[in-house]
Amino acid sequence: MNEQLLHFLENAFADSELNRLPEKFGGGRIFTSPLIGVVAGDDPIFLKFKEVVGPEHFTPPEMWKECGQEELLAEQLRIVSIVFPYVKKIRDESKNIIQLPRVTLPADIYSVGRNYANEFMVYILKQCISYFQEIGFMAAAGVLNEVYTIVTKGTFYSTWSERHIAFATGLGTFSLHEGLITEVGCNIRLASVITNASLEITPRKYKEPYSNCLYFTEGTCKTCIEKCPANAITENGHDKTKCYNYGQKIARKMKIRHESLLKPTIRRVNGKLRPPVYPVGCAFCQFGVPCMDKNPTSNE
Ligand code: SF4
Ligand code: SF4
Repeated sequence: MNEQLLHFLENAFADSELNRLPEKFGGGRIFTSPLIGVVAGDDPIFLKFKEVVGPEHFTPPEMWKECGQEELLAEQLRIVSIVFPYVKKIRDESKNIIQLPRVTLPADIYSVGRNYANEFMVYILKQCISYFQEIGFMAAAGVLNEVYTIVTKGTFYSTWSERHIAFATGLGTFSLHEGLITEVGCNIRLASVITNASLEITPRKYKEPYSNCLYFTEGTCKTCIEKCPANAITENGHDKTKCYNYGQKIARKMKIRHESLLKPTIRRVNGKLRPPVYPVGCAFCQFGVPCMDKNPTSNE
C-alpha cells in the first residue's frame, strides 16, 4: 500500500496547478516528487516528544481523537510523513539574494514559492485524506485541526511538529540549523496524515538524531552558521527567537515587494486565531550548503 500511496502523491504533485509558481516566476513546479515515511501510532518516541518538543505536543491517538475520529487503539494508527522537496530552479536561483540597506532578503522566487507552497500542502493533505477514505479507511491531518497551534511558552514549538514526525518515520535526522536532513536534503517542506490504513512501517535507520549533519558527525562544515544573516546559528545550536524575528523582517519587506501576488495564511498562536499573515520563509541556511539537496553523510 505504501507504493500505491506514493504513486498517488507523485501524480498529485505533477498534476496540481497549486504546485506552480506564478507566471511572473516562470510558472514551473515548486516541488519535485515526494518521499514518504510511516510510523506506528503506538511508537514510544511520541511520548519522548512531549519532553523534547514540549508538553502540549500531541501523541497520534490524542490528535486522532481531537480530529473527531472514531476511537481506535494506538497500534492501529499509522502516521504518514510527506517530504516536499523544492525544485532545482528555485535552489539554483536562490543565489539571487536581495541586499537592502538594513536587511538581506532571500531570492524573490524562493519567497513566492514558499508562500504558494502553503496552499498546495493543504491541498495534498486533503487529497491524501480523500484517498484513504475512498479505499475504506479513515484519515485526518493534525495541522488542519484547530488544536494545531504554535505555543510560545518559554520557547516556540507547535503541537504537531512535522519535523519530529518525519524523524520518527525514518525520513531523516536533525541538524545544526535544526532542519531535517533527508536523503533529498533539508531544503524541503513536511506534512503528515494520520490513518488506520494498513501501511507498512518504514525503518528508522539513522543511529543518532543528528547523524546526517556534518557538524555533529565530523565536527566540520558549519556552513549554515556563515549563511545565516541573523546570527541565529552557532555551534551551540539554533536560536529560534532570532530566527523568528528575522523571518518577520523579511515578511514585512516581501509583502511590500509582492503584495498583489502573495497568499494569506491563518495561524493559531497559543490556541488563538491570529490575523492573516503572508509567510515567505528565510532559509539562507538551507541554500548553498552541503545538506541542501542530499544527505551529506551518505556514502550511497
Ligand atoms: S550546513 Fe553543514 S553543519 Fe549546517 S546543518 Fe548542513 S551539514 Fe550540518
Ligand atoms: S531561517 Fe534564516 S534566520 Fe533562521 S536560521 Fe536559517 S538563515 Fe538564519
